[in-house]
Parts: sequence; C-alpha cells; structure tokens
Amino acid sequence: MDGQFRIDGKKRTVFVGLVCVDILNLLPKYPEEDIGHRCIDYYKQRGGNASNSSSIFSLLGGDVEFFGTLASDPELPFIQKDFEKFGVKFQNSILASHRTCPMSIVILSLESHTRTVLHTNKDLPELTRDDFAKNINLKSSQYGWIHFEGRDNAQEIAHMMTYVNDFNEKNSTNIFISLEAEKLRFARYLDEFDMWKMPDVLFVSKDFALSQGYTNMEQAASNYFQKVKKGAVVICAWGEKGAAAMSDQSGLVTSPAFPPTEILDTCGAGDTFNAATLFALGRGKALQTAIEFGCKIAGSKCGIMGLNNLT
Ligand code: ADP
Repeated sequence: MDGQFRIDGKKRTVFVGLVCVDILNLLPKYPEEDIGHRCIDYYKQRGGNASNSSSIFSLLGGDVEFFGTLASDPELPFIQKDFEKFGVKFQNSILASHRTCPMSIVILSLESHTRTVLHTNKDLPELTRDDFAKNINLKSSQYGWIHFEGRDNAQEIAHMMTYVNDFNEKNSTNIFISLEAEKLRFARYLDEFDMWKMPDVLFVSKDFALSQGYTNMEQAASNYFQKVKKGAVVICAWGEKGAAAMSDQSGLVTSPAFPPTEILDTCGAGDTFNAATLFALGRGKALQTAIEFGCKIAGSKCGIMGLNNLT
C-alpha cells in the first residue's frame, strides 16, 4: 500500500535544530575516574541531531537543507566545509557572532556498547519563529518537508510549526511537518505549548518513552498515537529492539533492528533512523516499509565510526 506522505521528488526537506562539534573517543571499556587512558581511536565530526539527520538524508540522495544557528568562531570553517562535503545546504542558517560552537565529548565503550555524552553549550542562541519566517521562504514552493528537533526553544518551535501549518492552510499547500521528542524535558513542553497536534509525524525516542513509564515500543507508539492529530503518525525507535509506529492507515507496525557484525558507534543512530524513515515516507513508502528502511540504515551506521562511510 502506498504511503500518505509522498512529496514531489524535486522538493527539499529541511532539518531544523542544532549543529555542534563532536569529539568521539573509542575505548576498550568505560574509563575509570582520575587516571589516564589510551583510546583506540578518536575522531572529530560535525554533530547535532538535525545536522546528522541532514547528512544522512543527503547521502540517501535527497535534496536537503539544515537550518539552525552557527557560531562564528574557529569551528565555523570546519562546520561549513563538512556541510558542503555532504551536499547539505545551510546558507539560510543564522550566523551568531561572538558565540561559541557547542561541543560534545563522546565516550564510546567497546565492551558495553555505551555512548556517554558530555555536552557543553555556552551561549549559542536558539532559533526563533522570526528567524524561520525571514530565512525559510515557504512561498518559493521549493520546500516539501520541515523536520524540527525538539529543543529548549520549544515555544519558538511551536510558533514555527504553527507558521508552517497556517501557510499550508492559506495557500492550499501540503508541506509536511515532523517533530522529534527525544530529550526527556521535552515532555512538559509538548503539553505546555500544545504541540501534540501540530506535526504530521511525531518521533518519540526510547528514553523519552521510558521516562514516561512505557516499557516497550508497541505500547509507546500506540499510546502516544492517541494524542496526535487525525491522520498523523507516531514513530518510536527502540535501540536494538528496532522500531514501532502507528497510523490510522496502517495500524500498529514494527520492524526488528538490523545489527551489524560488530557494534562500533551508536552515536547518531537515532538521527540516522529519523532521516532514513523520513526519506522513505517522502518517497511514498508505506509506514512499515519506511521504519524497516530506517532500521536497516541505522543498523549499518552502528557498525561504522561516524557517518562518513555510510552509503
Ligand atoms: P538514539 O540514537 O536516539 O538513542 P536508538 O538507540 O533508539 O536511538 O536507535 C535508533 C535506531 O537505530 C533503532 O531503531 C535501531 O534500528 C538502530 N539501532 C540502535 N542501536 C542498535 C543496535 N545496538 N543494533 C542494531 N540497531 C541499532
């Protein structure tokens, strides 16, 4: 069965959210406190959920843009070059002068397959609805899908989603909206700013669902589905269990995970899953097929360091 979210192949998808720098250190096991350790490997990459998802989307062959704030500091050329390398447009993003690029130090343990993230964001301003309205020209009719990473500028995100929904209504367009509820504190924003019924596709992370008392992905997807607008879809990725999703059209569907031979780096698995699932939905795939594709691409990502060699 054909899916309900097909977009014109020429239209662009935008990922709205954070770009930062990640330094990943691969260790045989999780380090002990207060002593020196030798890492097996380390690498530096462009990170941030929206930024990672836009890279994956581009690698899959989609027309994609990142929209966020870029700190004008010594990391800027690295970030700009990397967006270019991946074919991700970012020129509409806001340049924030005299600000510091956020940084994540990630500890990857080969023994336990954990990833421990130490994130610092000193002073990067978050996006506002006005930034969005000024810089993303919906009238240009080049945009097909806008994905929002759920961050602390939640009220502004709600305003941005309302802006897109109003635009659709006034212009009889159908630019799809997706929203990612990943961070635990985003739960209260969804209620506070009445965001449940705004997106067409709501991604809910495993940690988010666990923090709200759900114990499995099927239960989470079907319960959150009661809160979204009519015709909308809920998708819930659940680490090595795979993912579940629910829509009126397909009911509750699931996909297993597709683990690689060796798990090397699960950092960005969720961002990869989101991008690949959106890519498939936008190409008219049914929900079941789309989450299975998301799990396959995310599984491959877990077997490589970073995103560079994922094709
Ligand atoms: P996040 O990176 O946001 O914590 P998850 O851990 O839920 O997201 O992973 C997202 C997707 O990545 C899962 O649905 C699954 O398909 C894949 N994935 C994650 N961890 C593994 C793993 N250990 N083995 C295979 N696939 C995995």
